[in-house]
Amino acid sequence: MYTDSHCHLENKRFDEDRADVFARAHDAGVTVMLAIGNGDGPGTGTLDCAIKLAQQHEGVYATVGIHPHEAELAKEADFDELERLSKEARVIAWGEIGLDYFYDHSPREVQQSVFVQQMEMARAAKLPIIIHNRPSDNSENAWDDLFRLLRERWASSGLGGVLHCFTGSVAHARAALDLGFVISFAGNITYPKAQNIRDAAAMAPLDRIFVETDSPYLAPVPHRGKRNEPAFVVESARQIGKLRNLSAEEIGRQTSENFRSFFGLADTTE
Ligand SMILES: [Zn+2]
Ligand SMILES: [Zn+2]
Repeated sequence: MYTDSHCHLENKRFDEDRADVFARAHDAGVTVMLAIGNGDGPGTGTLDCAIKLAQQHEGVYATVGIHPHEAELAKEADFDELERLSKEARVIAWGEIGLDYFYDHSPREVQQSVFVQQMEMARAAKLPIIIHNRPSDNSENAWDDLFRLLRERWASSGLGGVLHCFTGSVAHARAALDLGFVISFAGNITYPKAQNIRDAAAMAPLDRIFVETDSPYLAPVPHRGKRNEPAFVVESARQIGKLRNLSAEEIGRQTSENFRSFFGLADTTE
C-alpha cells in the first residue's frame, strides 16, 4: 500500500483519461492521495479543484492554497474564499505555499507576504502547511528566507508541515526536521544527478518521510520525460528502499503510516 502525498490530479493533462489514472493507481496499490488545490491560481475559479476530486474519489484528500508562482494575482476575495474552503471536510493541509526564486513568476516580496498571510490563515484553521521552495541556481536565497520565515512565523504554531519535492542538501533536511517538518521525496530522487536528494533520504528518520509524485510533473526513471501519475510513486519508494535495504513495499507501508499519523487520519487498511 502506497500514499502519494502530493499530486495535481485536476491538471488538464489528466482530462482525457482521469478514470484510468485512478484505476492504475489502485492497481499499483496507491490507495491514498493528497490532491493539491492551487489549481490555475486566484481569479480562475479553480481554488476548490482538489476538494471536488476528494469528494468524488475515495482515498483522496485535499489542500487549499495559493502557489508562490501566482502570489501576485492574490486579492482579498481569494483569501476570503480560501478561508471558507479550508473548513471543508476533506481538507487536511494548506498548500502548496512558499517561495520560488528560480522562476520568479511573482516578485519576491509579494511571494513572501502571500506566504506569511497564508501561514497565519493556516494557523487559524489549525492546518499543517505544504511547502514549495526553490532557490535561484547555485544560491541559498530561498532556503535562507524560508527557514527564517518558518522560524519567525510558523514554528510556534506547533502544527508542522511538509517540505514537498525535496531538492536540498542534508543540512536543509536537518533544518526542516528540527522545525517539526516531514520531508517528501518525489520522482527526481531517481535521477542520476540527484545524489544530494538520495543523501537526505538516507539520513532522514524513516518515520519522518513521505513519498509523492507531484504528478503530472517530474516523472521518475524509467518513465522520465513522460506525464507522471500517482501509480509511479512506487519508483520513489523503490529508490528510498534501495538506500536503506528495504523493499519498495516496506517503504510504501511506512510512508503511508507516516501520512496517516501526521494528518491524524483513521486507518483504512484492513
Ligand atoms: Zn511545488
Ligand atoms: Zn506540486
